[in-house]
Amino acid sequence: MLSLREDKEIEKLLLTSQALLKGHFILSSGLHSNQYVQCARFLQYPSYAELAARKLATLYKDAHIDVVIGGAFGGITLAYELARVLGVRGIFCERVEGIFLLRRGFEILPQEKVLIAEDVVTTGKSIDEVAQLVKHYGGNIVGVASLIDRHMPDPEKLPYRFEWLHSVQAEAYDPSDCPLCREGKEPPIKPGSRGIQ
Ligand code: ZN
Repeated sequence: MLSLREDKEIEKLLLTSQALLKGHFILSSGLHSNQYVQCARFLQYPSYAELAARKLATLYKDAHIDVVIGGAFGGITLAYELARVLGVRGIFCERVEGIFLLRRGFEILPQEKVLIAEDVVTTGKSIDEVAQLVKHYGGNIVGVASLIDRHMPDPEKLPYRFEWLHSVQAEAYDPSDCPLCREGKEPPIKPGSRGIQ
């Protein structure tokens, strides 16, 4: 059972900020896709980030959160905006030799209620890495808050409460078997490269 969410207000801003592109793309994996997501383009507008944080904070309003943590870099902006709305600390972890760590004097105290923020959840792998760090400090994970869920796999399978605003169900195809290529409308582009404009 897929639980898709559609926030039309957020979707409109994702499209106008070109954070969500529809067309024919080459993903970093080499697969072709009909959609491309780059949340930083949405979050570069503080008013958009604040709106998303307000919507997510409402969902967690009874959770008595002590601290919001985001993984660098994708989770940092939303973690900070969520912390602002909730009136709590906003921190981030960063990779040192591939492992997420707290640096810069950030800490999580034992039994603190921690909300994990992320811009987009795809497989849940990086969420799991942040969660391991929180547990290492003895924090209690209240849940995960994300702007977008990529829906691979079903987010209901995450072992934590998961709230997100908008589902993006992108299709991904092997280049040799891509229906968008077969239609021959326009060649695929690599978002993020200079060719994007
Ligand atoms: Zn294609």
